[in-house]
Amino acid sequence: MAVTAVTTVAIVGAGIAGLAAAWELQRAGVALTLLESERRAGGVIVTERRDGFIVEGGPDGFLAAEPDLPALARELGIADRLVDQLARGAAVWTGSRFEPLAEGSAAALLGIQVREEDLGAGFRSFAGGMAVVVETLVARLGPAMRAAAGVSAISPSARGYRLTLPGGSAVDADGVILALPVFAAARLLAALGLSPARALGEVVYQPSVTVSLAYRSDQLGKPLEGTGFVAAAAAAAPGAVRACTYASAKYPGRAPAGHMLLRAFLAPSDGEPGALAHAELAPLLRITGAPLWTRAFHWPHGLPRYEAHHAARVARVRERLARLAPIAIAGAGCDGAGVSACVRSGREAARLILRRMGGRAD
Ligand SMILES: Cc1cc2nc3c(=O)[nH]c(=O)nc-3n(C[C@H](O)[C@H](O)[C@H](O)COP(=O)(O)OP(=O)(O)OC[C@H]3O[C@@H](n4cnc5c(N)ncnc54)[C@H](O)[C@@H]3O)c2cc1C
Repeated sequence: MAVTAVTTVAIVGAGIAGLAAAWELQRAGVALTLLESERRAGGVIVTERRDGFIVEGGPDGFLAAEPDLPALARELGIADRLVDQLARGAAVWTGSRFEPLAEGSAAALLGIQVREEDLGAGFRSFAGGMAVVVETLVARLGPAMRAAAGVSAISPSARGYRLTLPGGSAVDADGVILALPVFAAARLLAALGLSPARALGEVVYQPSVTVSLAYRSDQLGKPLEGTGFVAAAAAAAPGAVRACTYASAKYPGRAPAGHMLLRAFLAPSDGEPGALAHAELAPLLRITGAPLWTRAFHWPHGLPRYEAHHAARVARVRERLARLAPIAIAGAGCDGAGVSACVRSGREAARLILRRMGGRAD
């Protein structure tokens, strides 16, 4: 669909929010450039495929009750690659025993906002892991996506905005979408003279480490029940296991036949995450012998935690942005940490920019 008076929108940040924003603009026929500081897109969505295992570094699924990912998957022609959760139910490890946990509560305890009515529906994912949606979006966006192109500054320009890239090059755009971790967006906006944005920099991103551990099935001394467990309060100690997902029991295809894959969430520490996680999990799950391999991912800025007045702060910043040339903010630090919320946030930011540029969003 044609949009009037628009040539280019620059989207900064190619996490799922930025990718979803880019997709929304591409569908509307708008020229766009997606600028990502890292060499790969996806942000905290990272899937590695190794020896027949599918290893998730960040999210391993999305809330089944939320329609955003299935809708996006249908548009992208990958709906047939959606998979349902195999196992249901989780437990809490009290320090001495496992006790059942209400469905969906494990996600809430880890900081992903879940509406009460959505708790029962569980999670879904993609057969090849969460990066399937990222890889598909990147392929569809083609050269519009530029990796290793971090934006260091934004300034007003005759056209709208000038975005400064490393090496002194720049991108001029009529409109901008900042789909960055919100502290990074706050810095860019503050330099643009938007002082209320500074408050967004106070959103705390909880650091975390995820570590995947591969075993042979015969190393396990007791059957895995449910999707995993969350540890009771004690798990704030450095290197402690906060939670463990039985990855190969939760979704299909995560481990080859005769093997299993676990994933632990640890509080950050100086220790070796694989060794720490194995030492804690082995007695709990009666595992004998060492893991075949372990793979850790460090998230110094993991899930955002909002304060009570967060929504009002975001709204105030958006009111101020509305007075500038078209510019929008999106992503986990603004509108909710779940993958579905980020897709929604990115698409809404794109529609807002389209409206402000005089085109129709749908
Ligand atoms: C360990 C972990 C497990 C999770 N598990 C789940 C789960 O199971 N289910 C669920 O729904 N959610 C889960 N989440 C939450 C969810 O994955 C994230 O909130 C969401 O993916 C964030 O997307 P985003 O696009 O907002 O941000 P990000 O993924 O952080 O993307 C932002 C992008 O901006 C880039 N960037 C930064 N600065 C610049 C710059 N100056 N210029 C250009 N680019 C820049 C970054 O490199 C990055 O690619 C999990 C998160 C973590 C960390």
